[in-house]
Amino acid sequence: MRAEAIGPRMPGVLPLPRAVPDLSFVIPALNEEDNIAETIRRVAAEARRLVASFEIVVVDDGSSDATFAAAKAQAATFPVRTLRLSRNFGKEHAIMAGLERTIGAAVVILDADLQEPLGHLEAMLAHRAEGFEMVYAVRAGREDESLPKRAFTRLFYAMLNLGSDTAIPADARDFRLMDRRVVDALCALPERNRFMKGLYGWVGFRSKAVPIRLEPRRAGASKFGFRKLFRLGLTGLTSFTAWPLRVWTSIGMAIAVCSILYGLWIVLRTLLFGSDVPGWSTLVVAVSLLGGVQLISIGVLGEYLARVFTEVKGRPGFIVAEDHPADAQQP
Ligand code: UDP
Ligand code: MG
Repeated sequence: MRAEAIGPRMPGVLPLPRAVPDLSFVIPALNEEDNIAETIRRVAAEARRLVASFEIVVVDDGSSDATFAAAKAQAATFPVRTLRLSRNFGKEHAIMAGLERTIGAAVVILDADLQEPLGHLEAMLAHRAEGFEMVYAVRAGREDESLPKRAFTRLFYAMLNLGSDTAIPADARDFRLMDRRVVDALCALPERNRFMKGLYGWVGFRSKAVPIRLEPRRAGASKFGFRKLFRLGLTGLTSFTAWPLRVWTSIGMAIAVCSILYGLWIVLRTLLFGSDVPGWSTLVVAVSLLGGVQLISIGVLGEYLARVFTEVKGRPGFIVAEDHPADAQQP
């Protein structure tokens, strides 16, 4: 175990040395009071089996229940650091808040509902020993999801991968083991509109996928409804693709060419057969179609512009309201 000096850098005050654990766990939690204590216990039991030292960073993402208190109570027994964000900032930001505070040589991100079987950790660590800097879980099947959700997911990833320089695997999870170098690279990215599944791929490094079968949620309900997923999807598309912005040039050109050809045809027809006044239906269709196409393109522009706006404002992605370092001495 390495020792590293951290703490406030005040003149004349020696920073407290803090041991660097082999493994840090980051657990984002939103209203998980029924799960969090058991999750911490199981993670700690598995970690003790696999590594010499570890820490667990629980990030309470603005829960309205007793998640934070439940997590803090575990700090007496296990090396748990508890963070409370000032409100709900979303899973992506909660993960970042946790990652920034980890000090372990490697970091595992884990959901609080134990859907991801911890039994895979051993294999993940083995892959790390082989030299992989990132070992991520991909779900083996989506049988549990409804048909429309599966169709949406497939469409979303197809659209996403159309414009992204790095392939973003459709079934990858946040559940992953990352080397310290990967975590540092992720933390160094300045963007506020974060789509973690894209960023993991963007930072690169030697990566390995491990197929897993998800277990049902331990307690409570999923926090990702259609609205949240849709917003996350938009963040992903706007931060990893530019083709929705550019596609309008081609669409506009295609419509212009068609209009010119149609115009020529009308001139020719008038010359050959004379003019017949009707044509209002063509006009109405053309005007409303073009109106629709223009509004869509402006909407797409607006979506990107809104993201640029949030970046320019420079507000932090999250605000930490409370941060309790681990006080338990590791047995
Ligand atoms: N989560 C969070 N903030 C949110 C939404 C979710 O921290 O705004 C956490 C949640 O507590 C859980 C993890 O993210 O630990 C995954 O959420 P969930 O299980 O609801 O998603 P699903 O598994 O249904 O995709
Ligand atoms: Mg879940």
